[in-house]
Amino acid sequence: MTEEKKGKVYLVGAGPGDPDLITVKGERLLKDCDAVVYDNLIPAELLIYLRPETEKYYVGKKAGRHTLPQEEINALLARLAGEGKQVVRLKGGDPYVFGRGGEEAGYLREHGIKFEIVPGVTSGVAGPAYAGIPVTERNKASFVMFLTGHKADEKELSSISWDWAGKAENGTLVVYMGVKEIEKIAARLMAAGMSPDLPVAVVERGTFPTQRKVVSTLGKITAEVEKQDIHPPSLFVFGEVVKLQENLSWFEDRPLYGLRVTITRPAEQARYFYRRLRELGAEPLPYPTIATEEIIDDEKWRRFKKIDSDNAWLIFTSENGVRYFLRQHARFIGDVRRLSNFKIATVGSATARELEHYGLKADFVPTEATVNALCDEMQAEVNLDGAFVVRVQGTLSNDVLEKTFTGRGIEVLPLTVYQTVYTEWLEELKEKLIAYPPDVVVFTSGSTVKGLCQILSGDIECRKLMGQVQVVSIGPSTSKVIRSYNMEIALEAKEHTVDGIVDAMLEHYQENPFVRQK
Ligand code: SAH
Repeated sequence: MTEEKKGKVYLVGAGPGDPDLITVKGERLLKDCDAVVYDNLIPAELLIYLRPETEKYYVGKKAGRHTLPQEEINALLARLAGEGKQVVRLKGGDPYVFGRGGEEAGYLREHGIKFEIVPGVTSGVAGPAYAGIPVTERNKASFVMFLTGHKADEKELSSISWDWAGKAENGTLVVYMGVKEIEKIAARLMAAGMSPDLPVAVVERGTFPTQRKVVSTLGKITAEVEKQDIHPPSLFVFGEVVKLQENLSWFEDRPLYGLRVTITRPAEQARYFYRRLRELGAEPLPYPTIATEEIIDDEKWRRFKKIDSDNAWLIFTSENGVRYFLRQHARFIGDVRRLSNFKIATVGSATARELEHYGLKADFVPTEATVNALCDEMQAEVNLDGAFVVRVQGTLSNDVLEKTFTGRGIEVLPLTVYQTVYTEWLEELKEKLIAYPPDVVVFTSGSTVKGLCQILSGDIECRKLMGQVQVVSIGPSTSKVIRSYNMEIALEAKEHTVDGIVDAMLEHYQENPFVRQK
């Protein structure tokens, strides 16, 4: 009896570009899988949340080489699944719409490997929708046809009957992969009897924040594509429905439309930031320069267990401190109610918010969000007689509090629960950064600045590019570090939070509307 193979391949549609358009099932599989095999149109935000141990295989186009041949992709999928892995084959849009998903599934079946299909939102529906074009409409189109424009002129390769498609009335044609062939496609459709006045739209990079839309007519579309320098990935929509966009546009009207913003903070702390920017029409580019990792200091936790002061304090100065501390407390001590003997002091609104997340509230918050202010104000306003202070920290935290309090005879336990490490960027993400340069880079801490400089130290091209973008800083202490690297600051947030940064950007770009120089 042959042994049943345990591995499985999920052919998952990633959607057309907006990372929120993946299905719930697709997102869940991505989080849990052992390996991901992905193409070049996959939104970076989907890849950033993979578990660190998830193997990543990029099989799309790279500078200097083409897409990995289909046979090699098939073989890679079979090999990974054969090793017992849960594999996500992540494909742009829907895996079975012009995605060669059928061929991959066929190969897997042939090799006795289990698979499942997770459909995705296809670009041919979502792109037009984001451009204000419903592909069907009661009075204008009662059917929609999806066609590929690839090799439209090589009769023996293209099985599409353009003459037949051109005779269709009261419907919509959506053509994928047609940029290079548009002249021939338009000519064939007109030869078949379609009017040169038929409305046509091109949607370039549909659903990405950098989406562009060009509206024209069948007779003029070829010249227009050239004039506007349209590139793949783009879709053509032929039909009366195109006119509806005059009334139904919504995507381009948002205040930060088209702005590309590099976010350097750790991915797990940046979700909210990504989302806010995307809702305002900007394109968040997730390029974390630092990450945090848990550190467990057994000896300090042993001391923690023995604390029996009736004036015990916990001091938190970062969200990470709160998160890692509570995780370790649950593991080493147990029930969160065992913290009820402690009073809590915090620095920074983000730290306070993270505590609230766990149902905890600070007893003391200094008027200014610095450790110095905390030390001064606590000594002035709080009875610290016989106090025992636990200073929850990361490896980059300063020792101001420890020194000040110990100097006053207050017992301090510095409890390190995480470390900050500099990340490395995937090669293809660096290439993307060069192909689609950002307009803005945002720093939310001094360490994100140092991390970026570290990552780019050996990469002249990326560094040059970063020299041309506008730098946005969360506040004065981050700005100090930015200046120490000789970078100019375009904007500094008044309120030192993500919302404060977004407010500063909104205000700035309302006064100086952003227009991409092509
Ligand atoms: N499986 C994909 C299509 C893959 S073929 C899907 O279901 O969407 C690649 C072609 O899809 C591109 O040449 C382009 O015509 C179209 N396409 C994919 N993503 C797109 C996007 N975001 N905007 C416009 N067209 C897109």
